[in-house]
Amino acid sequence: MKYNFYPGPSKIYPQVARYFQEGMDLGIFERNHRSDSFQELFSRTKLLLKSKLNIPLDYEIAMVSSATECWEIIAQSFVQKRSSHYFNGAFGEKWWKYSQKIHPKSIGANFSVNELPQIESLGQTPELIALTHNETSNGTAIPLGFQKDIRKRFPDSMIAFDATSSMAGYEFDWENGDIWYASVQKCFGLPAGMAIMVVSPNAITRAKEIGDEAHYNSFNLILENTRKDQTHHTPNISNIFLLGRLLENVENITAIHNNLKSRKKDFYTDLKKVEILKPLINSSEVQSDTVFCLQGSQESIRMVIQTALNEGIILGNGYGVMKDSTIRVANFPAIPNQDYKDLINFLLRFEIKN
Ligand SMILES: *Cc1c(COP(=O)(O)O)cnc(C)c1O
Repeated sequence: MKYNFYPGPSKIYPQVARYFQEGMDLGIFERNHRSDSFQELFSRTKLLLKSKLNIPLDYEIAMVSSATECWEIIAQSFVQKRSSHYFNGAFGEKWWKYSQKIHPKSIGANFSVNELPQIESLGQTPELIALTHNETSNGTAIPLGFQKDIRKRFPDSMIAFDATSSMAGYEFDWENGDIWYASVQKCFGLPAGMAIMVVSPNAITRAKEIGDEAHYNSFNLILENTRKDQTHHTPNISNIFLLGRLLENVENITAIHNNLKSRKKDFYTDLKKVEILKPLINSSEVQSDTVFCLQGSQESIRMVIQTALNEGIILGNGYGVMKDSTIRVANFPAIPNQDYKDLINFLLRFEIKN
């Protein structure tokens, strides 16, 4: 396919093919994960992440398998009684459901897509506040101002952000959260099968107080290993290598985020010329910079997706309750700027013909 706007798994940076071959030539994929060459690779990759994404030096980075695994790790290792989940879409709700399997008293509260969670409803000192930084199912994001507010208001609570479709696209103010995580098949532009957890010193202290060591993926065990530049099990070595090579060559996150923001502005301006598709989210405060969600009639959505596919363009279908009424378009860094102009032209041509 010539174009891929699917929000995950999503377009992979084309240079990854070359990096993979390099990794093969180096033989790194077949090295033991306690060997010196792996430890050197892992240490370098974590440092590159910190420098390219502007992550504070005292935060720890761990590599696990998926964002779904992070849901479980957080419930096991950072929560004693209950976590408090605020969501407006399918991924946030799933996180809550997974947490409930471990802590049945975990709280889940809904808010609507053009609004923000009510801070008052969070109660006194929630143990852990769980928020989906970027809700991939509907193209909303938790704005920076709100992140700052909750951080200030709940200095003693853990705050966790699911940043699966925003990390490596957004420039974060990392101090606003204690746990940030993302799998790499979305905004990072890499093949699926790995996730990155970024954890604050406070969260590390909290995990030690709770003391969970009952699972192969108990965070305390993961931490002990990552501090030695090792992993708790044989990791996705190829993805760690690809991530490192990619990071060596991409711009700093400030430049990447600025480009995504300007592309988003142009896209929504151009979209005004298209009649059959309108933005689902109108509040610019909560409209995501990395996932565009567009609504239209079921008939036109179905036809646009099919016609696009015939022309070599993969669009994201709707997700969850909005499966048939929306289209999702990833605004991820691996996708070239020109592709968004081409997409608008496709939509304009589609309208003339249909
Ligand atoms: C895709 C996605 C997930 C699940 O990611 P996996 O890597 O499949 O576990 C979780 N949360 C959000 C916000 C997502 O977009």
